[in-house]
Amino acid sequence: MSPSNNDFILSVEGLTVSFDGFKAVNDMSLYLEPQEIRVIIGPNGAGKTTVLDLICGKTRATEGSIKFKGKELSKMSEHKIVRSGVGRKFQNPSIYEDLTVFENLEVSFPRGRSVMGALAFKRDAEVIGAVEEVARTIFLEELLDQPAALLSHGQKQWLEIGMLLIQKPDLLMLDEPVAGMSVAERKKTAELLRVITKNHTVLVIEHDMQFVGDIADRVTVMHQGKVLSEGSLEKVKSDPKVIEVYLGH
Ligand code: ADP
Ligand code: MG
Repeated sequence: MSPSNNDFILSVEGLTVSFDGFKAVNDMSLYLEPQEIRVIIGPNGAGKTTVLDLICGKTRATEGSIKFKGKELSKMSEHKIVRSGVGRKFQNPSIYEDLTVFENLEVSFPRGRSVMGALAFKRDAEVIGAVEEVARTIFLEELLDQPAALLSHGQKQWLEIGMLLIQKPDLLMLDEPVAGMSVAERKKTAELLRVITKNHTVLVIEHDMQFVGDIADRVTVMHQGKVLSEGSLEKVKSDPKVIEVYLGH
């Protein structure tokens, strides 16, 4: 991969953020191709979550650039970054427990500005079609009328992924999506991510190496705010630097 390639959907270069002098992300570069699934791994405190915070505008970079579809994100508001096609899932699902699966997806449909506004508008065929399509993708088509509070932990995670998918982001970022999931749910989540990369680029942080092996096109290993190693899972797994700081433990 060459940084001069214009085919990257996301090009992060020289990204640095300093918290009171501590560089949580330090001169990081990352290049994603359209439709790839990239997984970031690395020890706790390596700066993985902070990279996602920087891309989605939750945290401001001290230095460096984040180009997405040719646009610079590093000075854009969080809201504008979402509008430009970046979806971010946090570690804890932020679904509406009191609403049904259908309603959670419906309020996330781009036309629904707020919970109140979205519930007030007429459910036209377009919204229903979009909700049903996403519900099938996230394995919840039989549970559309179920209150979200009654879903399993894994189903709640899928619902939140669905709430992002219905906004049709070009880049979907997921922070430890299978934490707390059963083995069966992990397998289905891998299947889900494989399906959605037909239309989306996916950037995932994950520790579960079985899951990483199931989904990753390429893996980026972070350590102390920097890229320690990058390539296929096989390649990074056999990198002595990676074994020393991460896999050896
Ligand atoms: P990871 O996700 O790889 O476990 P993080 O990105 O959460 O790591 O954190 C990297 C480092 O940056 C940690 O030492 C963490 O304490 C620190 N850090 C993250 N966010 C902030 C913040 N807003 N202010 C100060 N320090 C932070
Ligand atoms: Mg983290």
